[in-house]
Amino acid sequence: MTYDYAVIGGGIIGTAIFNKIIRKNKSCILIERELDIATGATKANSGLVHAGFDAETGSLKAKFNVRGNYLIEELAKELNIPFKRTGALVVGNDLEKLNNLKTRGENNGVKELEIINRDKLKELVPNLKEDIKYALYAKTAGVISPYIFAIALAEEGVINGGDFKLGFEITNIEEEKNIFKIYSKDNIIEAKKVINCAGAGFNEISKFLKVEEYPIKFRRGEYIVLDKSEFVKLSIFPLPTNLGKGILATPTIDGNILLGPTAEDIEDYNTETTTEGIDKILGYINSTFDNVPLNKTIRQFSGIRVSCGEDFVVEKSKKNQNVVLVAGINSPGLSSAPAIAEFVVEELFEEKAQDKIMKRRSPYFTENAGKIICRCEKIGENEIINAINAPIPAITVDAIKRRVRAGMGRCQGGQCMLEVCKLIARNKGLKLEDIKKESKNSYIMFKGEN
Ligand SMILES: Cc1cc2nc3c(=O)[nH]c(=O)nc-3n(C[C@H](O)[C@H](O)[C@H](O)COP(=O)(O)OP(=O)(O)OC[C@H]3O[C@@H](n4cnc5c(N)ncnc54)[C@H](O)[C@@H]3O)c2cc1C
Repeated sequence: MTYDYAVIGGGIIGTAIFNKIIRKNKSCILIERELDIATGATKANSGLVHAGFDAETGSLKAKFNVRGNYLIEELAKELNIPFKRTGALVVGNDLEKLNNLKTRGENNGVKELEIINRDKLKELVPNLKEDIKYALYAKTAGVISPYIFAIALAEEGVINGGDFKLGFEITNIEEEKNIFKIYSKDNIIEAKKVINCAGAGFNEISKFLKVEEYPIKFRRGEYIVLDKSEFVKLSIFPLPTNLGKGILATPTIDGNILLGPTAEDIEDYNTETTTEGIDKILGYINSTFDNVPLNKTIRQFSGIRVSCGEDFVVEKSKKNQNVVLVAGINSPGLSSAPAIAEFVVEELFEEKAQDKIMKRRSPYFTENAGKIICRCEKIGENEIINAINAPIPAITVDAIKRRVRAGMGRCQGGQCMLEVCKLIARNKGLKLEDIKKESKNSYIMFKGEN
């Protein structure tokens, strides 16, 4: 068949666009190189739905952030995923800078911004150092699970007729009589229109499409993850600098605490964590908060911000009107995703039909969870099997972890990883040594000769 649309890249941007196209009753295929949705920047970020006061007034970032923040609430309900307007604080003693941020936010259309003083600050963040006197309080900011958001958007699209290909390594794209032929080693996908939202892989796809490329840059952000606690109940930022929004402390939607991210420009895409990065986080956090529960540290990770200039690129290619380019989606890309999808589908491709109503039921969790496999997060065998057999099947250990949190707890999979591998193997008819952690070569069991 020839699809109306092919979306290349299964991060939050690709899945939001895919979902929106399906809502317009058009045929669409989502193409992802890795073995699961949301394995790029979308799996490793702060998970904040920003209010929208950070970006320059008039920029695409400001426009899409504010609109996205508004759209996410209803969308999360339809997708049946948790989202909470926890609020965010930018703390500091420079009242002028805080007021400037507030004015910028108001110019961007952000509602419910307030400058608060020490008394209110103490009430909201009892662990903040006494010498921090003021904050900009943004009540509309919130938290969401970025990967559950993307997976739910993709699943809902698939339940409603969309197709997907995981592990699809594009080797070439040709265009003949206004039909794109997208090749892998052993497959061809045909589509009339293509959206390139391949994140770090954007230029590789643009080359195949013979359209515009952009100078892509990488900035790494490292994090420390703490086990669930009430150390902070909303997101606390310092005043922003030219390197970004700075190191924050935030609850996640699941109740963990994230400390980070750092901001380090790097040459190659590299998600290692470093002693220097972790020390930077600890230095800042210890100078801003008292009683930091570092004994609850369970993990460190990093994510890569992909940029190609100050603002997002969201436009039709000037070389081919059937191609839309979505590039350089660094922060606030997660917050902006529903608004970017709306703009791409309704404005750039002029799909103006009323959206089809789509309501997703969580396909994993069930009253009969079965034998407990992940003891930290209390996840049962039946829930893991449901994830393996979901509309977008979870066939790696990390794909299971993202969907049902098996391996997300205090022991980080030390207890349950082998059981999870066995369940994937049994339910997919695979050998244990074929099971991967995340990417194509991330085998867990030794595959050697002896
Ligand atoms: C440290 C950090 C903190 C952040 N915090 C926030 C935040 O709190 N709030 C917020 O709003 N934003 C935040 N962001 C930004 C947000 O994470 C990104 O804007 C968003 O995830 C980008 O999504 P994407 O779909 O463009 O990219 P990705 O998630 O990287 O998706 C691109 C996809 O394309 C696939 N791909 C690549 N090449 C190919 C190919 N050749 N063929 C097929 N598929 C391909 C990749 O495998 C990947 O799955 C943060 C980012 C970072 C790194």
